[in-house]
Amino acid sequence: MFDLDHVFAAGGPLARSLPGFRPRRDQRRMAARVAESLEARETLIVEAGTGTGKTFAYLVPSLLSGLRVIVSTGTRTLQDQLFGRDLPLVAGAIGRPAKVALLKGRGNYLCRYRFARAVAQRTLDGFGESRGTLARIERWARVTRTGDLAEVPGLSDRSAMWSEVTSTRENCLGQRCSEFSRCHVVAARRAANEADVVVVNHHLLLADLALKEDGFGDLLGTADAVILDEAHQLPDLATQFLGAQVSSRQVEGLLGDARAELTASGRGCTTLAASLTAVEDALRRLREALPPRAGRADWSQEADVAAAPAEALADALERLHAALAAEGAEPALAACAARAAQLAAGVSRLVAATTEEAARTVETNARGFTLGLLPFDVSTRFRALMEARPSAWIFTSATLSVGDDFSHFANRLGLAGSATLRIESPFDYERQALLYVPRGLPDPASADFTAAVMAEALPLVEAARGGAFVLFTSHRALARGAALARERWGATLPFPLLVQGEAPRERLLAAFREHGHAVLLGTASFWEGVDVKGDALRLVVIEKLPFASPDDPLVRARIAFIERQEGNAFRDYQLPAAALALKQGVGRLIRSEEDHGVVVLCDPRVRSRSYGRLLLASLPPFAPTEDADEVRRFLARHAA
Ligand code: SF4
Repeated sequence: MFDLDHVFAAGGPLARSLPGFRPRRDQRRMAARVAESLEARETLIVEAGTGTGKTFAYLVPSLLSGLRVIVSTGTRTLQDQLFGRDLPLVAGAIGRPAKVALLKGRGNYLCRYRFARAVAQRTLDGFGESRGTLARIERWARVTRTGDLAEVPGLSDRSAMWSEVTSTRENCLGQRCSEFSRCHVVAARRAANEADVVVVNHHLLLADLALKEDGFGDLLGTADAVILDEAHQLPDLATQFLGAQVSSRQVEGLLGDARAELTASGRGCTTLAASLTAVEDALRRLREALPPRAGRADWSQEADVAAAPAEALADALERLHAALAAEGAEPALAACAARAAQLAAGVSRLVAATTEEAARTVETNARGFTLGLLPFDVSTRFRALMEARPSAWIFTSATLSVGDDFSHFANRLGLAGSATLRIESPFDYERQALLYVPRGLPDPASADFTAAVMAEALPLVEAARGGAFVLFTSHRALARGAALARERWGATLPFPLLVQGEAPRERLLAAFREHGHAVLLGTASFWEGVDVKGDALRLVVIEKLPFASPDDPLVRARIAFIERQEGNAFRDYQLPAAALALKQGVGRLIRSEEDHGVVVLCDPRVRSRSYGRLLLASLPPFAPTEDADEVRRFLARHAA
């Protein structure tokens, strides 16, 4: 039987199996603390700086413990990495061949029932997809063992066909389904229920936590421990899952499915024609009442004209629910009835909610609308959901604290009083990186700010010979920045210029890594979860401090809520959130002991405002400079 000291020691099983493995005292320390929490079934929050090796620090004690553990990650890519690479590696090294399962959200698996129905009705022909793709799905469906649609070559999850052949929690028939015994979702969940270690993602975990799936067993109920990696994403995700969202697309989907089921059952739509048409009419009236707007708007601005049509939609959905329920207990129609009831409840909850409890938002586009209800405080409910499953709960990420203070993260999830551990990154930041705060840049609110930032940044990008991220806080600044870069460099760009929105995110990142001298301009989605090791990234320019925009109705509503409670919204919400976001953005630069580079922080408020010191103190200990020549010399030394 191995102990942790032996596993992480020089010459130990990890060192023997992993080329390049070096014993790290802090990795061993984190592993020991995780082992204690697993043993005591306690809640632990661990901030582990980049390079700690936190994945192995929780996988080793998990596998050694013999407990049933759920590991949840932020994205499907990380899920695949854990399942396909890290877990087999660690299990092999320590000789613990645990039963491991990968479980994705139900939207990744072929729904045999919906697929058969769509084929029978020939609805797939209407999507303009090539018959070749359909034939591929059909051939694959006959032989697949997992039912994971990612296995179908050339099928994108953005394809209209994808949603036709997968299920949602609302439209799945569960145990009443004729395909239940052969269902891929059921099989995947059964395998997960029988595994020692299950790898899921936060969306799936929260869906399970918040809305226990009917007929599929409670994944969390049987776990001894839940380990949440990339845990900084959880407060916002939990807010979404514990709130409500109703879109015109969901209502249209219900109408389409109800009509299809009525036709398939031989009743035809005439029996329920009046109820279906009433929902359709109410949906149209609500859509007409909501003016098209760019971005997310505050529902209360629309409530005068939209509340009555929204209530009418809730009534019509409620009547449809009653009419469908009266048709008998046929599973597919009963499922439609339940969906109608849920949508009605969602709309009613949104209309009735007060400004004391939640932010209410509306987004519109040419095709329809989405209404959102986001509670200000999910801490009590999240805590209660955790307490209903008495396991070890371990939250970890590279960014959970501001300085030594975990309270911003802990309070939002009701984790105040939980044990915490903070582990510094092992990197030698003072030697590996510079933090450059230029002097003389204008106030970020001024009209010429982005131009001044680019005038500072582009010569540094040239000195670095590319290999740069320029991170913006708004799409408007991103567009202006891209235009200025093109203007300076003309038609024959010295480096490939990759701009968010001009290609999918993963393709931009692959091109960036591959080229080695590219320049990537992006907003929020590039501030986190991007790992470019080595020389391809040697310069990160931060345009502005990432304070959430007070133009966003959600941010405005949260500020107003805190102020009504006589709190200080800036100190308790905006500043810690910005500090964590800045730490994420800056964290893109140094990803290994061999990396070198410069962070350029262009926002003069880090120097001019009192809170600047707190923001700088929460960053890794870079060597600071205000000297552009020193930056150029550093870049010249390290430019590939
Ligand atoms: S049980 Fe649900 S997911 Fe499975 S085949 Fe039936 S409807 Fe589809």
